[in-house]
Amino acid sequence: MKRSRIKDLLNSKESGIDVVTAGWVRTRRASKGGFSFIELNDGSCLNNIQILAFNDLPNYDSEIGRLHPGASIVVEGELVQSEGSGQALEIKAAKIRVLGHADPMEYPLGKQRINLERLREIPHLRARTNSFGAVARVRDLLTFEITRFFHDRGFLYVHTPIITGSDCEGAGAMFQVTTLDPANIKKDESGQPDYSEDFFGQRAALTVSGQLEGETYACALGNIYTFGPTFRAENSNTRRHLSEFWMVEPEMAFADLSDDADLAQDFLQHLFNAVLTHCKSDLEFFNKRIKPGLIERLERLAQATFARISYTDAIEMLIDSDQGFEFDPHWGMDMQSEHERYLAEEIFKGPVVVTDYPKDIKAFYMRRNDDGRTVAAMDVLLPEVGEIIGGSQREERLDHLIDAMRASNLDPKNYTEYLDLRRYGSVPHAGFGLGFERLVQFCTGMHNIRDVIPYPRAPKRL
Ligand code: ATP
Ligand code: MN
Repeated sequence: MKRSRIKDLLNSKESGIDVVTAGWVRTRRASKGGFSFIELNDGSCLNNIQILAFNDLPNYDSEIGRLHPGASIVVEGELVQSEGSGQALEIKAAKIRVLGHADPMEYPLGKQRINLERLREIPHLRARTNSFGAVARVRDLLTFEITRFFHDRGFLYVHTPIITGSDCEGAGAMFQVTTLDPANIKKDESGQPDYSEDFFGQRAALTVSGQLEGETYACALGNIYTFGPTFRAENSNTRRHLSEFWMVEPEMAFADLSDDADLAQDFLQHLFNAVLTHCKSDLEFFNKRIKPGLIERLERLAQATFARISYTDAIEMLIDSDQGFEFDPHWGMDMQSEHERYLAEEIFKGPVVVTDYPKDIKAFYMRRNDDGRTVAAMDVLLPEVGEIIGGSQREERLDHLIDAMRASNLDPKNYTEYLDLRRYGSVPHAGFGLGFERLVQFCTGMHNIRDVIPYPRAPKRL
């Protein structure tokens, strides 16, 4: 007989049928009548299925009566209407095979609750808990829905490289990739490592964004997106930063900043609706145990039009507010998380798209506005998470782009390919980057970004 998943069994309309299922014991409770209730979970859904194991099972005394949380078993039996409350169906076991015991003195996920910090120490086991199982299922669903959203709208999925040679993509500090022996590095005349000896014959690093390569495909194929691992070697020990995370980066040809903001709103709302529809019981769990009000908030944001405001107006609102900020708001500053959150949580009480930032705090490739001091950039801010999306209309005018590179001390010679897009058939185009883990954080209500990725990488943590 084939193994049924617990999710399918719990949703089954039939009872009285013979089934086989397998999973890990969450709890076992011995009853006075000489039988055990086993709560079994296989990761297919949040809920456990209850197994009724009577003491006439041949291995009851030797094995079943000694089952502890964490043990793995295969159960054959009859799916029956449950007499107890709390579940509709349960399995009356005819046979239980123990695949692996778990020593209750050593298994870290026993009956007692353990906190999320402690679970970070055991990433290889934490997926067996309710919280991390639910996070993994929401992550999976969001991945699928991202692909679906873009596919349905004719965006091509482009795989941009992870190892890159352009050492100033402008987005952040990079991790170097090298096969040089660090104990024995040959230096050139200027005292720099001689990268001609290195694997690629030049300096290489892990990507901080797929955007520049994404643009080349958008300027040939129209609408594209990338979705892949992204690396930032910044020493940001916050609950919103990882050293390795996943980024979704759509890029549209023949599009301006307002098209970009429209896409960002449609995209986020599609994803909010998708988790609400397809991850109901996981969301109910988060709503109850992690973040009260989560479902109500997702429902509201899935409908509400996102507010749009210019950076200049936003700064004015921050200055006029009587909130005491750690950093005093003023025009020209990079907004801190406290400002972003105040705008989203207190002023707009929902998502807000801030546009047209000062050129000096944004990357060289963002399109210069006519006022000469701002660029066509946008950030989408969400309550609690702050910035979830950063995007812009790209500078498509060759002379402006070269000026902007020089102003950022970048040598146009290193960007020949990027400039070629402006030399040959240049078109207006725009795109954004969404931090996938920040999205998962927002959809689950998990407080720390390290708890929404299976193996978090952060400074001094590998
Ligand atoms: P922040 O100001 O929040 O550090 P950023 O402005 O440096 O982010 P961008 O270069 O605009 O980030 O990257 C696009 C998106 O990628 C961000 O809006 C955010 O959602 C996500 N992101 C950026 N850095 C990180 C990180 N270290 N960990 C997780 N997600 C990140
Ligand atoms: Mn940004």
